[in-house]
Amino acid sequence: MGMLMAKKHIGEECVICEQTKWKGIYLYTSFICTDCEHDLISTDTSNPKYKYFLKQLRKITNPEIFS
Ligand SMILES: [Zn+2]
Repeated sequence: MGMLMAKKHIGEECVICEQTKWKGIYLYTSFICTDCEHDLISTDTSNPKYKYFLKQLRKITNPEIFS
């Protein structure tokens, strides 16, 4: 019975692939799935794909200045 209750958790939306995933890490307040985390680490900075990651990550790091 308790196990059914636990099913309420439906995962998190990854900020990079924008899909709902179960496993991943939190960067600031945003979720990055393990697939994207791995991609991000293994992608060379000269790879065009890296720019896409940075663009997606900018949504997280978009600075909000608290004065
Ligand atoms: Zn992802």
